[in-house]
Amino acid sequence: MELTGYTERGKYRVASPGVRVVRVRAENPGPFTLEGTNTYVVSAAGGTWVVDPGPALPQHLDAVASVVGADGASWCGVLLTHDHADHADGLPGLLERAGPAPVHAARGGVDVRLGDGDVLGPFSVVATPGHASDHLAFVAGAELFSGDAVLGRGSVLLSPGPNSLRGYLGALERLRALPLECIHPGHGPLIPDAHAKLGEYLAHRLAREQRLVAALVAGHRTAEALLDAAWSEVPLVLRPAAAATLAAHLDKLDAEGRLPADVDPRVAHVRGPEGPA
Ligand SMILES: [Zn+2]
Repeated sequence: MELTGYTERGKYRVASPGVRVVRVRAENPGPFTLEGTNTYVVSAAGGTWVVDPGPALPQHLDAVASVVGADGASWCGVLLTHDHADHADGLPGLLERAGPAPVHAARGGVDVRLGDGDVLGPFSVVATPGHASDHLAFVAGAELFSGDAVLGRGSVLLSPGPNSLRGYLGALERLRALPLECIHPGHGPLIPDAHAKLGEYLAHRLAREQRLVAALVAGHRTAEALLDAAWSEVPLVLRPAAAATLAAHLDKLDAEGRLPADVDPRVAHVRGPEGPA
């Protein structure tokens, strides 16, 4: 199995037979987007697909469209991992540049609604709730396109909800059972060892839950006190994201009947049902 990584312009030939991936990174760096959103142009079986158009930045969309049109393969359409702005806002601009093509996502006004287990061209669809309730990951050969379910660096922001974290952990387990080689994340660098990263993510969430349970046992009850105790190393800029993730952890403990009776599971629900992009 040959893994050569991306070249300077994001070109990357993967080991899965017949699958070619080009990464185009948007110029929208930030605390949530790391170096910027990764858009992937995937060519397989004579067709070209885009996973996540990215933000509505003209230069970025020009670059993506030029890759789509580069090898003369038929333009098959767009897949959205989820509908947050940094992944989906560039959709109209991309279709303007690359030409009309069907759009596939879990929700919204798209051409084809996707769900867990669907197969589309070279991709199979795995529902990966957690970061967003509509979140999907796409598997092509031994390549996983993980959106914001797994990032190239650091951990992901989870949204509150009764099945958010439990659904997320279940999805990570299911992905770990697949014969994956590498992960192409929505943000950050290529992940060359899919199984190691998925194992690391599962262990990280479990460790976080153990710290939260210890903080609850110690008597902490407010969101601030729980964050101080169980998310103490998180920088201030990511504190709101940590609060949303805390809410998801509390929802899981509540659903499992593991929350002390005097804890309000909504104590950390400071934002809407979906976290920031
Ligand atoms: Zn994102």
